[in-house]
Amino acid sequence: MNYDQILIRYGELSTKGHNRQFFIRHLKDNIKKALKPYKGIQVQALYDRMYVLLNGANGEQVIETLKSIFGIQSFSPAVRADKRLESIQQAGLELVKNSFREGKTFKVSARRGDKTFEYDSNDLNHLVGGYILKNIGGIRVDVKHPDIELLVDVRKNGVYLSTEVIKGAGGLPVGSSGKAMLMLSGGIDSPVAGYLAMKRGVKVEAVHFHSPPFTSPRAKQKALDLAEKISAYSGSIKVHIVPFTKIQETIHKGVPEGYSMTVQRRVMLEITDRLRKIHNGLAIVTGESLGQVASQTLDSMVAINDVTTTPVLRPLISMDKLEIIEMAQKIDTYEISSLPYEDCCTIFTPPAPKTRPKVELSRLYESRLDMETLIEEAVQHTETVFITPNQKKQEEDLSDLL
Ligand code: ATP
Ligand code: MG
Repeated sequence: MNYDQILIRYGELSTKGHNRQFFIRHLKDNIKKALKPYKGIQVQALYDRMYVLLNGANGEQVIETLKSIFGIQSFSPAVRADKRLESIQQAGLELVKNSFREGKTFKVSARRGDKTFEYDSNDLNHLVGGYILKNIGGIRVDVKHPDIELLVDVRKNGVYLSTEVIKGAGGLPVGSSGKAMLMLSGGIDSPVAGYLAMKRGVKVEAVHFHSPPFTSPRAKQKALDLAEKISAYSGSIKVHIVPFTKIQETIHKGVPEGYSMTVQRRVMLEITDRLRKIHNGLAIVTGESLGQVASQTLDSMVAINDVTTTPVLRPLISMDKLEIIEMAQKIDTYEISSLPYEDCCTIFTPPAPKTRPKVELSRLYESRLDMETLIEEAVQHTETVFITPNQKKQEEDLSDLL
């Protein structure tokens, strides 16, 4: 049966009290932005649900797009019937028939948004339910745990019916929790961290450090490709690319080997924090998880985090590598992350970085270098790229046409 609109349920938003309008506005804007490529679509927001009117757009593609929008608990493709009882009964029967198999149970859940309609929700449950019972042999009613729930929504301009409930991405609408800078490497972890931050409503701008010619253009492209993947969850993403070569060389020459990695991380965090200020972010997100490597011991975090009081969010902190990999596969970043291009953090890495660096020593070694000039220079020369989902694909399609 052809559906002509999609009903969207908010889920977690319903617990947000007076912030509700704020969340709904963010969600509506995000949905409109994501569905922009589909001509003619309209989005209507109500207090407890939203409707996407397809107006001829491809429903299956729209459904695929909706699946990656945070703040949606579930959604249902719906068909429209006119307001005569026979039409409602007929449309309901056809929908339930579509999903009915031997032994399945159902119930009707009607809602009368249009209070002038002659039947109330109870009447409708009985009138439509009775009609279905009469016309589908072997079907039974189960009001507590039905296999099929027929939703009947009476509105001013018609009656909307649906049975299928598709799980949404959950979480909160991106942007509703403010903005943060994501330190994005080419690794497995940081894209997953970005995804999880977005899921909690954080709008993310990525910061990537590269060190040409020690890191290749392909390593930079890898970070951009990862950014493109996670941009599917936010509609778009900015990536700030920081030239890091001079700083790395200076640290390599001037800092005792055991501390070069710690100092390097401190400077990366400092630069990210300055970019955060420039771009009005509230926090920094990293892909760190406790105990994986030398840079991720608690002592190390203390020594690195010493450069700022800005909240550093570490969504992966308690996750096992295998859990992170599983999530990377789910959001389709794993394959790109597994490509073997060098990261700026791996070049010049000493054979034995200190796993328990001291804050005082880290400060001392750093203070011996003329970092302020180099940091400002790196910030000045940072290049910003704006990325949207499927950008690459669109560019390829375009070059096919030329
Ligand atoms: P990832 O898989 O995200 O690279 P990792 O387990 O390899 O993480 P590290 O390489 O120690 O861990 O990096 C820890 C965190 O530091 C990363 O998750 C990321 O947030 C940040 N980071 C590392 N390298 C870069 C880089 N080149 N540009 C920006 N951020 C980086
Ligand atoms: Mg890494």
